[in-house]
This record gives sequence, structure tokens and C-alpha cells, in this order.
Amino acid sequence: MNHLVSQWIRPEIRALTAYHVPDPGSMIKLDAMENPYGWPEDMVREWQLCLHDAALNRYPDPASRELKQSLREAFAIPMDSELLLGNGSDEIIQIIAMAVAAPDRVILAPEPSFVMYRMIATFVGMQYAGVPLNPEDFSLDMPAMRAAIQRYQPAVIFLAYPNNPTGNLFDAGEIREILELAPGLVVVDEAYTAFADDSFMGKLGDYENLLVMRTVSKMGLAGLRLGYLAGSRDWLREFDKIRLPYNINVLTQVSAAFALRHKPVLDQQTANIRSERENLFRALSTMPALKVFPSQANFLLFRTPPDRATPVFEALKQQGVLIKNLSAAGGSLRDCLRVTVGTREENEAFLSALRNSL
Ligand code: PMP
Repeated sequence: MNHLVSQWIRPEIRALTAYHVPDPGSMIKLDAMENPYGWPEDMVREWQLCLHDAALNRYPDPASRELKQSLREAFAIPMDSELLLGNGSDEIIQIIAMAVAAPDRVILAPEPSFVMYRMIATFVGMQYAGVPLNPEDFSLDMPAMRAAIQRYQPAVIFLAYPNNPTGNLFDAGEIREILELAPGLVVVDEAYTAFADDSFMGKLGDYENLLVMRTVSKMGLAGLRLGYLAGSRDWLREFDKIRLPYNINVLTQVSAAFALRHKPVLDQQTANIRSERENLFRALSTMPALKVFPSQANFLLFRTPPDRATPVFEALKQQGVLIKNLSAAGGSLRDCLRVTVGTREENEAFLSALRNSL
């Protein structure tokens, strides 16, 4: 290795593997929790007219005022909560981490969960503590959570609600207990809230250490890169100092505000995905070789017989279907694969390829 690289790049960064995104080529793409549907043609034309008027020669509105107003109306953000927008919720995780970072401070999350919590802790030079979930149903291991909170006094706890990659909602009462025990922030990450039956958005006023983070990625707008954080002004005022100016570009501001004016279209797509999820769950449940886990998100986690996950994953790829192989993560994810809910046709193609692969 170039000696300057080893001299200057921090060892913990050199030890990382970059977040891996495979090239899907022409495969059916069921690996990344995207919404599989496009927009009706007349809506696409109306959107293009909006883009026609977007001023690309100017910087975007640094405060994204119109877009924030649209988000407030569309998602019932409590009036007394502040909003902070990020270039994807990934950027919001990073902003929060940068605001609290110190070498002896800890970010804590259950495991398995969204990998960026751990990666971003490393990026900003913090410690990370992962607390294993109960392996049989991926619920929170509360004795272990209580002990870890006591031991590490974490600056931030991230709880994905529903959790990725397991798909379940943690027990709301247990999250409330964590909010009460935590010495620092608790970020409830509601990336998949559109597919779930519960949310902490309405509880923001109850806890001064609660923040609720969401994204528009899973509701059909992944290409825009837009996440939002709701919480008290006291916290968000500090985070806003770290947010880079103009982090939400002109095209995203215009396009997201446009899409939210057509929210019934997005809501219908979400309803289709929820009903397709039930079909897919039933179909996977009838395959005796598999164990499929209940999901409140737009994906399903399932376990293959021992050491079959990678051969099944590869056989699906051979048949033109890309899902996510989680088996290498080990622990409770050993032999596990995750499939995003697609259109009915995509799900059927996946199921038929899966039957061939088993
Ligand atoms: N949180 C969770 C739980 C996720 O699964 C993801 C994306 N996979 C994100 C946050 C990041 O979403 P985005 O950056 O697209 O807003």
C-alpha cells in the first residue's frame, strides 16, 4: 500500500469495506427496498412542466421552506416539532453523529440492524455497541439493552422501527422504557413507516430525548435522496449548524413537493406493496424448506436450510433475480436472505426462480 495512505488514512477507515451496491444489470431488482412502480403518464408530464421552471442557475432554497411545508402537511408532523432535511436519511444519521462525536462516546443499536449506524460511528471516530436481538423472533433483548445502556451510557441509540433487515416492529412499550433509561438521544428510524401500523411521530412531545427520522426513499422517491428528522427545536438547531448549505438540491425540492401534491398516487402504490407483501409471505410460508419472518416493512427476511443461502442467492441471480444475501453477516442472520416486495409479476418471477433453486 502507498505509504502515505497508510500514514494518513485512519486505521479504522482502512479496515472498513465500502457499502456494497451490486450492479443489477438487467436483473429483476428486489435487493434494495425500492418501490417498483412508476407514475401515470399524465403525472410524469405535469412533473416535467414543474422541472421546466426550476432555476438551475440558482442555489436551492437553503431552508427548503416549501418542501418542509409539504412534508408537514403530508405526514402530520406535530406543529411544535422542528424539521431538518437530509440528502437521504443516511446524511441525517451522519449529521447527528458528527454533532455528538467524541472518541470515548458510544452509538448503540440492536443487531442486526441498519449497517450505516455502525459505519457512521466509525466515520466520525466514535465507539459503536451492537446489542444482539433475540435470535428466534428478532425482538429486543431487554435485559441486554438495559445492561448495555447502563454500561456504555450511549450518546445516541438508533432503533429502526420497523427494523431492517428483519422487518419487525419492536415492542412500543420496550422502546418507551429505552427512552426513559437512555442518558442521551434515542432516534426512532421510521424509514419503513409507510408499511407499518405504528409510529412514534405522535409521541415527540412526550420525551425530550426522542427524535423521529424518516425517508421518502421507500415510498417511491429513492432517486431524490430525501430524508427528514422531526424533533424539538433545541436539538435540531444544533444539528442544523452541521448540515452543509444547500444539501437538498433544486430538482429534489421541486420534485418531492410535486410528488407530495399527488400523495394519493404514492399511497395507492404503498397499499399495493402491503397487499403484495401478504401474498409473498403466504407463498414463502408454504415452502417447507424455508422459515419466513413476519414483516411490517416492504421486504421479507427468510432463512434457508443450513449453508443453502449463498447457493440459492446465486441460483436466483442465474435466473435473473437479484435479492440480498445476508448470510455472511453471521449470527442470527446466518442462512438468511432478504427479498424486497416487487410488482405481482416480479414477485411471481422470484417465487418461481426460488422454487427452482431449492
Ligand atoms: N434507515 C433504514 C432503517 C434503512 O433501511 C435505510 C435504507 N436502506 C435508511 C435509513 C437510509 O435511507 P435513505 O438514505 O435512502 O433515506
